[in-house]
Amino acid sequence: MVNKIEVKRTIVEIDGDEMTRVMWKMVKDRLLMPYLSMELEYYDLGLKKRDETEDRITVEAAEAIKKHTVGVKCATITPDKNRVKEYNLKHEYKSPNATIRAILDGTIFRGPILTRNILPAVRSWKRPIIIGRHAYGDVYKNAEIRVPGPGKGELVFTPNDGGEPIRLTIQDFKGPGILQGIHNTDAAIQSFARASFIYALDQRVPLWFSVKDTISKTYDGRFRQIFQEEYEKNWREKFEEAGITYFFTLIDDAVARIMKSEGGLLWSVKNYDGDVMSDMLGSAYGSLAMMTSVLVSPHGYFEYEAAHGTVQKHYYKYLKGEKTSSNPMALIFAWTGCLKKRGELDGTPELVEFAKKLEAASIETVESGTMTGDLIKVAEPSPHNKQVYTEEFIEAIGERLDRKLGGG
Ligand code: NAP
Ligand code: MG
Repeated sequence: MVNKIEVKRTIVEIDGDEMTRVMWKMVKDRLLMPYLSMELEYYDLGLKKRDETEDRITVEAAEAIKKHTVGVKCATITPDKNRVKEYNLKHEYKSPNATIRAILDGTIFRGPILTRNILPAVRSWKRPIIIGRHAYGDVYKNAEIRVPGPGKGELVFTPNDGGEPIRLTIQDFKGPGILQGIHNTDAAIQSFARASFIYALDQRVPLWFSVKDTISKTYDGRFRQIFQEEYEKNWREKFEEAGITYFFTLIDDAVARIMKSEGGLLWSVKNYDGDVMSDMLGSAYGSLAMMTSVLVSPHGYFEYEAAHGTVQKHYYKYLKGEKTSSNPMALIFAWTGCLKKRGELDGTPELVEFAKKLEAASIETVESGTMTGDLIKVAEPSPHNKQVYTEEFIEAIGERLDRKLGGG
């Protein structure tokens, strides 16, 4: 048995639901606990516990991340009408991720796990393209009117201090149509900008930011301005030291460049662009189960998770006693992301080293041909390719890890 590596400070562990909860335990039991001596502050965000606590547990988990800086989260069910019935819930609780994001004031960054035998749909992509989505405002918090007939559509702002309202005509309608009002706030854009600069520096990759300020001179223009000011004021020097750049370009130009780029960058975008582009990137990189996600708060808190959900369909098979070939890669990388961050913050390079070895063992297992069902479908054909059950996959990673650690 190898000597256990000590994790100096507490990690906030947030458990979740369904198949990811099952895999979470397997990953911990085989790939983490035998090697690490760590203090975990455990929050059970399984739906049952959230219901018992009227969702207080979710708030407590977010507060714990504020206290301990770093957390790792399993996927959780966001209940809808069907789930309320299935779990006999008292309420249709809000998405835990939305609750945590609001408390930590964070931005979510998603990046793929790359292996040599799963090629991205875009041939030029060699390194990860991480996407940062501003998850506040715009059309996701809009007011809309179905215009019934001729009339004047206006934009009005009424100041609280009794000053004159500001009025603009949007359109003099000659017939029926549609009308939409959207907003954003300087504070939300600023947090987004800070989180983007923090994460680009953390990952040592250039930051791209793109809006359409040639058309939307005031609205999108404000985004561009805040990013530029934030860069000049707080990041230019740090970026230059790290040898990375901040690059602004129009969203359409950014899309065109992304398709030709080699990757290895962080691309921050507005809410709608992020919604659309993250799905495009996710599918172009191969499998949802290979997409990692991290919530970065401008106050310096980090919460790591997998981008995918609870893999409900696989869980129902599991409940029937069937073995499944669900992919734990993004869950493993949520843990390694968290361990690397903990190691960096606590000055424990041996922990960072362990996390890197676990990542390498995971990637090499896939590259050797041993993989789960979702990957077999998209991997380059090879006589070595073999679909395995989740436990077997985790065991194969564990054996590789043992060899890397010089034990077993
Ligand atoms: P999902 O869990 O991401 O799964 C969608 C499909 O993607 C699965 O049916 C499976 O396809 C494939 N897939 C995803 N992850 C996989 C993995 N690790 N291994 C193998 N295949 C994988 O999304 P969903 O089914 O729409 O949502 C289920 C629940 O997750 C919902 O209750 C939702 O609220 C929740 N959710 C949570 C989060 C979060 O906590 N971050 C995010 C999204 C959704 P096949 O069935 O074809 O094999
Ligand atoms: Mg989407």
